[in-house]
Amino acid sequence: MNCANAVLVKNLVKTFNHQEVIKNCSMTIPYGKIYGLLGANGAGKTTLMKVLIGLLKPTAGEIQVLGVDISSENKEYLSKIGSLIETPVFYSNLTVEENLSVHCSYLNKNYKEKISETLDLVGVPGIEKRNIKELSLGMKQRLAIGRSLLCEPELLILDEPINGVDPKGIIEIRNLLFKLNQERNITILISSHIINEIEKIADVVGIMQEGQFIAEISKEEFQHTDFNLENYFVEVLLKNSFERRPKK
Ligand code: ATP
Repeated sequence: MNCANAVLVKNLVKTFNHQEVIKNCSMTIPYGKIYGLLGANGAGKTTLMKVLIGLLKPTAGEIQVLGVDISSENKEYLSKIGSLIETPVFYSNLTVEENLSVHCSYLNKNYKEKISETLDLVGVPGIEKRNIKELSLGMKQRLAIGRSLLCEPELLILDEPINGVDPKGIIEIRNLLFKLNQERNITILISSHIINEIEKIADVVGIMQEGQFIAEISKEEFQHTDFNLENYFVEVLLKNSFERRPKK
């Protein structure tokens, strides 16, 4: 067991209908770090995240999350993970408070008193009685981040959390994630197609292509003045595609 890492993935393979969408993939996320995940559409980012939170069963590989082998019977680690995967789903006929209460009851703990505090934290204060149907996309996204925090997570897994959020909201969510990371020591895995945002927030950036990690780069490297993460991302993708092209 490696206790220095909140996430340890070794030789992960995930197949759908005999097709490998994650191919022998390895990565680690040390405790307390913010790991940014970049990759083109279909690279395997969501699939990797779903495996980490037990929504998908790995085909092969060794995975430890918060020090626990995810194939073991011990599923307690799941209660320490907050997640937002793909488009957040809510009961559209229920209010915000009712939705969050349902979530609290899944958690089997009394976090109900935390609801209004959490809504304040994610920048949608006082919307407890609003119906989900009345909320904008960005408000639902903030609410989903709030929902992921109700379990007081040690690890946050956020799949494109700033989708549909306005520029002011993006800044607020960035600051919130920094705060959660620095004050509560929450480890964060975040994916986004907004490279500029990942560049601002991540300590380490991993780039996936066709189910594999093709590059990993640290903040010290990508925040160097001569470095441009967007150019690097495009170059790495092109180089890898070229190297993988079928030889004549
Ligand atoms: P995006 O940036 O578009 O969200 P992604 O990097 O998150 O993409 P995934 O959603 O993980 O990519 O998808 C990786 C590959 O796995 C894609 O080719 C996708 O079509 C395939 N895939 C994902 N889920 C399934 C499924 N349930 N059944 C079959 N194929 C799937």
